[in-house]
Amino acid sequence: MTSEVDILIVGGGPVGMTGALLLAKHGLSVVVAEREAGIYPLPRAAHIDHEAMRIFQTAGVADDVLATTRKAGRYDFLNAAGDVLMRIETGIGDTSSGWPASNMIHQPSIEGILNDAVAASPNAEVRRLWALVNFTATDEGVTAHFDTPEGRQEINAKYLLGCDGANSTTRNLANIENDDLDFNESWLVIDTIVKDRSRLPDCNLQICDPVRPTTCVLMGNGRHRWEFMLLPEDTAEHMQKPETIETLMAPWKVGGAVEIERAAVYQFAAALAKNWRQGRVLLAGDAAHLMPPFAGQGLCSGLRDVDNLAWKLAMIIQHDADEVLLDSYQPEREPHVRAVIDLAIMMGQMVCVSDPEAAAVRDADLMAQREQNGDAHGAMTFPPLLTGTILEGSAQAGMLFPQVGRLDDIMGPGAWLIAKGDLSGGLPIQYISLDDERLKAAQDDIEGWLDAHQAEAVLVRGDKYIFGTGEGEQLATAFGHALGLAH
Ligand SMILES: Cc1cc2nc3c(=O)[nH]c(=O)nc-3n(C[C@H](O)[C@H](O)[C@H](O)COP(=O)(O)OP(=O)(O)OC[C@H]3O[C@@H](n4cnc5c(N)ncnc54)[C@H](O)[C@@H]3O)c2cc1C
Repeated sequence: MTSEVDILIVGGGPVGMTGALLLAKHGLSVVVAEREAGIYPLPRAAHIDHEAMRIFQTAGVADDVLATTRKAGRYDFLNAAGDVLMRIETGIGDTSSGWPASNMIHQPSIEGILNDAVAASPNAEVRRLWALVNFTATDEGVTAHFDTPEGRQEINAKYLLGCDGANSTTRNLANIENDDLDFNESWLVIDTIVKDRSRLPDCNLQICDPVRPTTCVLMGNGRHRWEFMLLPEDTAEHMQKPETIETLMAPWKVGGAVEIERAAVYQFAAALAKNWRQGRVLLAGDAAHLMPPFAGQGLCSGLRDVDNLAWKLAMIIQHDADEVLLDSYQPEREPHVRAVIDLAIMMGQMVCVSDPEAAAVRDADLMAQREQNGDAHGAMTFPPLLTGTILEGSAQAGMLFPQVGRLDDIMGPGAWLIAKGDLSGGLPIQYISLDDERLKAAQDDIEGWLDAHQAEAVLVRGDKYIFGTGEGEQLATAFGHALGLAH
C-alpha cells in the first residue's frame, strides 16, 4: 500500500506529535509513523518553559497540558551543608509568551494529550508499529519504506521530518554526522507518585554534594522526582536495586509520602547534528540535538524546531513560497540551541563534581558571585533570532512578540501584520488594523508596544517571532520578498 501525504513525520514522540498538530492546523495532511505500540513510559522531561506552553497553545493543547502541570517558583543550587550557592526565582516576573516561566510536567501525561489530539485531528494520523527502514529523496519529494505488522509499506510525502530521537534512523540513513559535545554522566532517575505533598520540598533543588550529587524536582500530574549521580564505582545494575534506592532516598525522610513509580539509569550526553536539512528531509528534536537535562530544555528546544518549520512548510506547500525559506531553519535555530546546550552543560559541570576540593572551590566561587550579583529572576533568557527570515536591523526583529491575554488564539496559526492604519494585500497572511474589534482586549498594550519601538506596524511570523517592525507596506513587501511571493 502506498500513501500520499504532504508531510511524513518519522517518530511519534512529543516533538513529532506537536509538529503534526501544528502542521495540521495549517491544513497540511500529515502522517506520523511511530515504531512503538504506545507512549514511551520511562521518566524524562520534568520541566517546560513559557515558550513551550505557547507552542502547545498554537497546537491546541495548552489547556489540557496546563491542567497536568505545576508552577515552579524557585530553582536552588545548594551545597552539602544546605547553603544556597545559586538561586533562580522562576516565579517572579512576566514572560513574553504570557505563560509561567517554569512549568513542571509529567512527560507521559503530555504525550497522552498529544496522542489524543492527533487522533482527533482531521488532517493528521499516527501509524503505530511502523518503523522506518529506508527512504529515497528527490527534488520533488520523499518515498519512505516501513516495517509494519502488515509487512513492508511505503509513504510518498512532499517532505520528511525526522523526529525519531537521539538515535535517529532518519539522521543515520541520510549520513548526517552527529557531533559529540563531550558531556557524559550517568544518573539514576527515580519518579514517584505523591501521596502527601506537604512533606516534600516545594521548589526545585540541585544538591551539589560531592559525596553524591543529587537532584530533586517537582513534576506535573502528582509526581515528584529524585536523581542521583553515579560515581565511578557504581554500576547501573547496582543503582537500580530496590535496596540501593531505599538507601539513597532515606535522608529525604519521605517514606509514606511518595510511592516509587519507576527508576532508570540514564546517560546524560550532549550532541549536535551537523546538518538539520538535506533537501526535503529535515531533522527536529533530539534527532538534531541532545543535551543534559539540567536546564530542562531538551524537549522545549525540539518544540521550537517544529514551530519554526510548520509555518514555513505551510507557506511553501500551500502558497508556493520559495523553498529557500527552509534554508533559514538551521541558521535560526542552531545558535539558540547551542546557547541552550552551553547553559545545560555549564549547569551540569557545576553539579557533577565528586571531588571534595573542587567542590569547595566551586562553592566559594558561586557564593561570591551570588553576593555580588544577587539572585536571577524570571525565565531563562536565550539569544533572539539573529539572522534568517527576519528584517535585520528593524527594531525587535527576531524577538518573540509578546502575547497579551490569548492573542495568539485570536490571530490563528499563520503570520500577521498588525498596523495602526488600514492595510490589505495579496500575501497569505492576516492583515489586521489595530482598531479591529478582535484586538480590543490587547489594543492598548499593542499600541504602547508599537509606540515604544517607534513603529507603525509589526509583522509576526507563524512561530510568533517578529519578522520586523516599521511601516506596514514596507514590511509586507520585505516579507513577500523573503517568501518569494509578490505583495
Ligand atoms: C532524565 C531526563 C530528563 C529530562 N528532562 C527534561 C526537562 O526537564 N525538560 C525538557 O525540555 N527536556 C527534558 N528531557 C529531554 C526530553 O525528554 C527530550 O528532549 C524529548 O523527549 C525529545 O523528544 P523527541 O520527540 O525529539 O524524541 P523522542 O521522545 O525520543 O521520540 C522519538 C520517537 O521516535 C520513534 N522512533 C525512533 N526510531 C524510529 C523509526 N526508525 N521509525 C519510527 N519511529 C521511530 C521512537 O520510538 C520515539 O517514540 C529530559 C530527558 C531525560 C532523559
